[in-house]
Amino acid sequence: MGISVEPVDKERKKFDKTLDEVFAEEPESYVYKRPELPDKNRVSSMVLNRKLNPFPFARILWVTEEARNYWLPKIEAASNAFHRLESLTVLYGVRRVFTTHFRPEELVSGFSTLDRMGLVFYPLHQVGSYQGFAHYHPPVEPGKPWTYYGVVGKLEDARAFAEATRTGDHETMGELLGYPPCCTEAFNLVWRSGYIDPIWQAGEASYAESPESFELYDLDSRIMRLKPIPESLAVLRYIGIRMVSHIPHSLTCRASLKVAEFFREVAKEEGLYYGALEYSDEILRWNIEWSVLHGIAEVKTPVFKVSTNSTPTYQKYTVQLVGEIPPEEVKYSASALVFPYTPSKVRKLTEHPAFLKFEEVVGGEGD
Ligand SMILES: [Zn+2]
Repeated sequence: MGISVEPVDKERKKFDKTLDEVFAEEPESYVYKRPELPDKNRVSSMVLNRKLNPFPFARILWVTEEARNYWLPKIEAASNAFHRLESLTVLYGVRRVFTTHFRPEELVSGFSTLDRMGLVFYPLHQVGSYQGFAHYHPPVEPGKPWTYYGVVGKLEDARAFAEATRTGDHETMGELLGYPPCCTEAFNLVWRSGYIDPIWQAGEASYAESPESFELYDLDSRIMRLKPIPESLAVLRYIGIRMVSHIPHSLTCRASLKVAEFFREVAKEEGLYYGALEYSDEILRWNIEWSVLHGIAEVKTPVFKVSTNSTPTYQKYTVQLVGEIPPEEVKYSASALVFPYTPSKVRKLTEHPAFLKFEEVVGGEGD
């Protein structure tokens, strides 16, 4: 919450183009392809339980104490780095605005901090404070803490975002935030249909555009397994592990890869990559299983499990993400959990990421 104070006098490189300009150059490359479902009127195969309204929470459980001591500081460093990148990417001219919350008592110092960066905060709503992870803005309750939710950017951009919010122009809001057009379009469609944590839906969109990434896609058994693009994974954003601010439209979204490249570059410029954001890059390359049931999502990795509020469903839906980093290479990993944390077949040396990297450098024969 709030804005980190970034040094203003620092000489900063400015990017030539904002992300919305990059996406506008090749609009045909960033089109959302709707999944093909047995019922053409549906947005997703997932059946919602509209009677449930899960309360925001997020909890992390570790396989061992050693794993926690080793990984928790890394997760916190990565999460803090990403939080700072939200504002830094605006300072670097990667995108025009970002949204944030201000506690009323932070306003005075926050405004002057932003002013020194040439930015303003434009408040949009008052929202109730919450613990954990909210997929919506909780209402303000009398006598309970609340914050201002709003947008930060140059005055004209913040004003444009406020205007787009008033008129419900999600396309313009997405552009100003530097979100890929495919992701903005998909998010508005699935969100409005009640899929407030649209990971299963991102999987359905992936199958529509790159079925070759899938080992398993079974809508009847509600399970899928695929090789994702790590940068397009929003499955650990609940604990701040992410490479992009938006929820990618698919688990193989190429536009999100582009966004992540910009964020990574800013992180390197600011000394926030090594020892910080690099752990997000690593963790998102592990085997990860995301599942949801009765409005609770569980995200399992080789060393920890996150439980959080999510889309309310009657049945369990499971997305298994096959990572580039084999579980035995994850420090302090537990070996025998449910999802193939130990690979089902022994990986050939030539398929090993380190080998592929080597081949890339020396210029192997290719495949
Ligand atoms: Zn996308």
